[in-house]
Amino acid sequence: MMKIKRNIEEIKADIKKYSTFPENVVLVAVTKYVDIEMMDNILKNGVMVFGENKAQLMREKFEHFKNLGKNGIKWHFIGNLQKNKVKYIIDFVDLIHSLNKLSLANEIDKRASQIGKIQDVLLEVNLFEEESKEGYLLAELYKDLSKLLELKNINIVGLMGMAPFTDNVELIREGFRKLKILKDDLNKKYFNGKLKELSMGMSNDYKIALEEGATIIRIGTKIYS
Ligand SMILES: *Cc1c(COP(=O)(O)O)cnc(C)c1O
Repeated sequence: MMKIKRNIEEIKADIKKYSTFPENVVLVAVTKYVDIEMMDNILKNGVMVFGENKAQLMREKFEHFKNLGKNGIKWHFIGNLQKNKVKYIIDFVDLIHSLNKLSLANEIDKRASQIGKIQDVLLEVNLFEEESKEGYLLAELYKDLSKLLELKNINIVGLMGMAPFTDNVELIREGFRKLKILKDDLNKKYFNGKLKELSMGMSNDYKIALEEGATIIRIGTKIYS
């Protein structure tokens, strides 16, 4: 219990220390590893945004807190989302970090439209074309972009990415920097400045991500260890 409090305080202090716009940074507590008791503890420590990567489990957790009458929780979907699972989360998810295929976009758009919602999403980018990772390859992204922009019930608000798989701090930094440059470039050419969010940085690299302009950091392990 105490260590969660201390860890969250440390992360919040790091946001102030490493970001040039700390008031605009959202800390997503990645709760895929933990049960609702632990999540309740996180809420008590003032973090109100949960990140999950399994649609049905996220729905169960959402229902639990809804039944308790807890308001103000934000739900972010951060994992690879299968098309046939969109239905489990569409009515309550606040941000989908992992839009990485046109077929998925079409499904989200359809489901959102059925309930009169405009769904905020991030484009997940696999900048270094790593086979172990999900996310749009750049060529695919550019191929799909005009179609994505036509979808009326999807609101693309930014990009999500991961650093390349390495211990080399300078390569990690370069990865985040590239994602920022891509966001700025897409903003100029296609989005007219509408892309605001950069979801990058996890337990091991969030300080670098903050220095490179992250607006959303996704932290799991560091909260619980
Ligand atoms: C699990 C996960 C995280 C959290 O990773 P930690 O190293 O535990 O902080 C962040 N983002 C995504 C997409 C994840 O799947």
